[in-house]
Amino acid sequence: MTNTTTADLLNPLAKIKPYAEADRARNEFHPQFTFWNIDTQFDFMRKGNELGIPNEYAGKLVVEGAYTIEPKLEQLTKLAARRNIQVINTADWHRADSAELAKNPDFVNTYPEHCMMLTKGAEYVPATKPEFPMYIDWQEDRTAFLGDGLQRAKNIVLLKDKFDVFAGNKYADQVACAVMTQPNPDGVGTTNKRAVVYGVATNVCVDYAVMGLRERGYNVTVPTDAIKHLPHLEATPTLNLQAILTKWQNAGVALTTTSGIEALLKEN
Ligand SMILES: [Zn+2]
Repeated sequence: MTNTTTADLLNPLAKIKPYAEADRARNEFHPQFTFWNIDTQFDFMRKGNELGIPNEYAGKLVVEGAYTIEPKLEQLTKLAARRNIQVINTADWHRADSAELAKNPDFVNTYPEHCMMLTKGAEYVPATKPEFPMYIDWQEDRTAFLGDGLQRAKNIVLLKDKFDVFAGNKYADQVACAVMTQPNPDGVGTTNKRAVVYGVATNVCVDYAVMGLRERGYNVTVPTDAIKHLPHLEATPTLNLQAILTKWQNAGVALTTTSGIEALLKEN
């Protein structure tokens, strides 16, 4: 500032200062990690009697034993808050006419009603409930408003109408691109962050998120004690748990535990 001249003060570039401030705000998020919390909603997580809570809501499409990973999910949510890690939360958000729903479902391509929009079943369980999130609804047309918000929102909720977040919300690619890259300190180019993916169900929506991120060139780590699979798909050779984990490893996905993520973050 000591060499500021009148010419500098009149420089039209000075007018872009507010954007530079926005960039700095963005850079305050953890530069190396983004967390992806997949579908940890009441309809998938809670039968309604696991935790001894009277009159608790009974989930419509519960992943057997999903409640047992909630302590790990809570650990990850707190870790993200503590280390200022941006969290992308995906959520099934269905209407009665959703293609995924059927009266006589085959439990592979179609399922009974679950996570209907604006219902209790579509809410996140307390372990992952995002604070002050920016919601991006698959039904909205709000492209013009996304840019700035994506750089500022600590929690983003992607509401989707399909198993695959990248197919079920037309803004998912834009969001992934915005949250998974970090501008380099020298201002030239960007570096990709690493996605830590957890939630339910391992062999459906988590699989789509993991493989979708890999296909887009992002590094992915999965804490395997913070995911839960649908056991009825174990009979399907490509969808059983071991087949999914092997596929991920062959695709370059790193597998660890929630404690492993904690340790990784201590080093970075
Ligand atoms: Zn669904």
